[in-house]
Order: sequence, then structure tokens, then C-alpha cells
Amino acid sequence: MKYFTEVLIIGGGAAGIFSAINCARQNSSIKVTLIEKSSKLLSKVKISGGGRCNVTTSCFNPKLLVQNYPRGEKALFSAFSEFGPKDTVSWFENRGVKLKAEEDGRIFPVSNNSQTIIDCLLNEAKKYKVEIIQEKLLKKILKKENGFECFFNDESIISCNKILIATGGNPNADSYQWIAKLGHKIEKPVPSLFTFNLIDKEITKLMGISLENVSIKITGTKLISSGPFLITHWGFSGPSVLKLSALSARHLSELNYKYSLLVNWIPSYSEDALRDFLQEFRSEHGSKIISSKLPFDLPRRLWDYLLEKSDVDVQQRWSELPRKNQNKLINNLICDQYLANGKTTFKEEFVTCGGVSLNDVDLKTMQSKNCKGLFFAGEILDIDGITGGFNFQAAWTTGWIAARSMAEK
Ligand SMILES: Cc1cc2nc3c(=O)[nH]c(=O)nc-3n(C[C@H](O)[C@H](O)[C@H](O)COP(=O)(O)OP(=O)(O)OC[C@H]3O[C@@H](n4cnc5c(N)ncnc54)[C@H](O)[C@@H]3O)c2cc1C
Repeated sequence: MKYFTEVLIIGGGAAGIFSAINCARQNSSIKVTLIEKSSKLLSKVKISGGGRCNVTTSCFNPKLLVQNYPRGEKALFSAFSEFGPKDTVSWFENRGVKLKAEEDGRIFPVSNNSQTIIDCLLNEAKKYKVEIIQEKLLKKILKKENGFECFFNDESIISCNKILIATGGNPNADSYQWIAKLGHKIEKPVPSLFTFNLIDKEITKLMGISLENVSIKITGTKLISSGPFLITHWGFSGPSVLKLSALSARHLSELNYKYSLLVNWIPSYSEDALRDFLQEFRSEHGSKIISSKLPFDLPRRLWDYLLEKSDVDVQQRWSELPRKNQNKLINNLICDQYLANGKTTFKEEFVTCGGVSLNDVDLKTMQSKNCKGLFFAGEILDIDGITGGFNFQAAWTTGWIAARSMAEK
């Protein structure tokens, strides 16, 4: 079977479907066909955000927004100025999907149900007559003089003028071979967004403890993040840990996830400030027993653990604490070292760091610089963000820009 379509979109995820709709909407005279290898469309949207779909973020300022993308960052600035989170909100709200921002900036449908987003997208695709073909896997693309010939697993061939690759991320480098063959550099794909598995099992006995603000750093690097933090039965988790995993995704992969990290349990103090504070605290509460008077707003179990780790005799008075132990305590409070070995995916919610190099793509159009008529959108690109709706936003933005370019005659 041989078939022709003007615009062919590969991948029925957020980027592919959004791009197909917007392309067909902007130019109703062209035929847009979308191919999905599985039997399900938008399967990640369905399970995203714990089934609620964190569609985007309320971080509307492109300058601040780009800081949430360890890969992409500055290159995304103009793309977000073209179609940013505010545009995403309007796009969905204009189609009857009510959205709400939570305190931490994440935006969800008011229904708290990802199906609302899926229904909206699939209704729009139908409205603009996007042809969707499922259970068909693209195997090979041949560049022709005025377009492409695409070969599928069912032996069918589709020719098209323009093609959008929106096949998502994949930590397996082999899965990018066919794109590399079309003249694109692939930045080595590695997983991002994971939690830290610790070798030290003492701290994991404190599982369940969460803190509002902790600062963590990969030893020997400038890779640092701070924010909410959670101790789990396998190690460390929480937004600050996920953010650090994204910032250091490539570095930690090179270390085969065996590394050391430093925790600052009270990041509002520098070492000098902490020393001064403890000095004052000791002169004010010198007669009190160490175990009975907490100088910091830390969970009791964590404080006891840090005292024990610093070999502090908790029955002593604060005035009797030897200098050596005070120094140890200071070190453990702001520079507490742990050895990690391995990673755990957070609620199966991971993204791929790496993919098609942004040097090979014109971000004003999302067209390949090396293969005219070939476009990219979504996680297939070397773009990924931290958690908080940033990854979907990258899919909507790149999908929208590709749609606009492909819709041009
Ligand atoms: C569990 C989970 C929860 C998440 N939650 C959030 C969240 O709440 N907010 C957020 O911003 N991000 C979230 N993310 C990240 C977000 O889902 C992705 O960044 C986003 O889905 C990327 O969209 P995409 O269209 O580029 O790729 P995908 O959604 O992966 O879609 C790619 C599609 O292409 C198809 N495909 C692949 N190869 C072929 C081929 N050769 N032929 C035909 N079809 C093909 C795949 O089957 C797939 O359907 C989550 C990720 C996971 C795994």
C-alpha cells in the first residue's frame, strides 16, 4: 500500500498530537496524518502527575522559565516567548478546559483528571480532521527530492512533503540511530529525574522525615539544589533531590551512579554564622541539658541522629560540649556526607536527558538544519526540565512552533 499526505507526524504523545492539531487548524487545505506505534494515544498524559496531569507551570516569565531546563535553557528563551505557559493555559481554557495553579506553581485541570486534557486534544484532532493511524511503527525514512518516503512495520509506505518526529525520549542510544543517519548529532541519552539510593543505612532508619528546605550538593562539583526534601527507606527523595538529579543527570551517569553528596540541613546558615549562633546559644542556655534544648527547627529524630553522629554526649550541659564535638556537629549540620550507589525512578516519572542536538535544529521553526522538511518536537530533542509541568510545556511549545512552520505552504 502506498499513501500520500502533505504533513506526516510520527508519535501520538503530547508533542505530536498538539502539533498535528495546530498544523491542521492553521492550514485546513493540507492533509495532516499522525502515526502512533501503540494502541494508545497520549499514554504519558494519561498517567502524568499521578493521573492529574501537570499540564504546565505558572512560571510565566521566559527568563525564569528557562532556568528549569538543565538541557535547553537559553536556547529555549525565544521559543517560550512565542508560545509559553500562558499560551498553554489560554489554549486549553479557550477549549473549555478549566485549569488551576497550585501553590508551588504546578498547573492542573480543575477536574484533577488527565482524561480532561486527553478528551480536549482528541476532540480538537477530530474537529480539524487529523487522520490518526495507530499500531503502526515507523522503521525507516528516505529523503527524496521534494519530501520523504517512510517505511512501516506492516510493509506500508507513506510519502509526504514534511515530516515531524515526535517519538519522545528513550535512554537507549540505539533507538536514535535512524535519526543520526539523517544527519543529526545525538547527545547521549541518559535518564533524568530520579531519587538517590544511599549506601549508608543509618540515615534511612529516619524514613518518612520531610523537611521544608534542605540544600544538597554533589561532592567535588558545583551541582547544588535546595528545597523540600524527604528521607525514604532507600535514601533521599523530594523536589530538591529530583532537581539535583536533573542538574547532574549526565555527570552521575558517567559515575555509574556511585558518588558522594553533601547535605546542608540548615541552609540558612553559613559556617561562620552557625558558629556564632551556637556560641550565643551556648552562653544563653549553657546550664540546659543538650538533649532537652533544641537550637534549630529540625525534626527531633533527625536532631538526635546528628548529635549521635557527632559523638555528642546528650546528657551533658550545653556549656560542657567539647570543642571537638561542636566542630563535628557543625560539620554534620551543614556538610553532612553520604555515599550513594544507584538510583530509583520517582513514581515511574522520568524523562530523558539528551537526544537530537539543538545545534542541528532551527528553534524558530523546529526544522532540521541538515534535512529540509524534517521537523522535531518534544522529548526526542535534547531538552528536558525538572518536575513541575516543565516537560509538557516543552512539548507544547516545540509542537506549536513546528506546527506553524509546517502549516506554511
Ligand atoms: C509517569 C510519567 C509522568 C509524567 N508526568 C509529567 C507531568 O505531570 N508533567 C510534565 O510536564 N511532564 C511529565 N512527564 C514527562 C512527560 O510525560 C514527557 O516529557 C512528555 O510526554 C513528552 O512528550 P512527547 O510527545 O515528546 O513524547 P511521548 O509522550 O513519549 O510520546 C511519544 C510517542 O511516540 C510513539 N512512538 C515512538 N516511536 C515511534 C515510532 N517509531 N513509530 C510510531 N510511533 C512511535 C510512542 O509510542 C509515544 O506514544 C511524565 C513522564 C512520565 C513517564
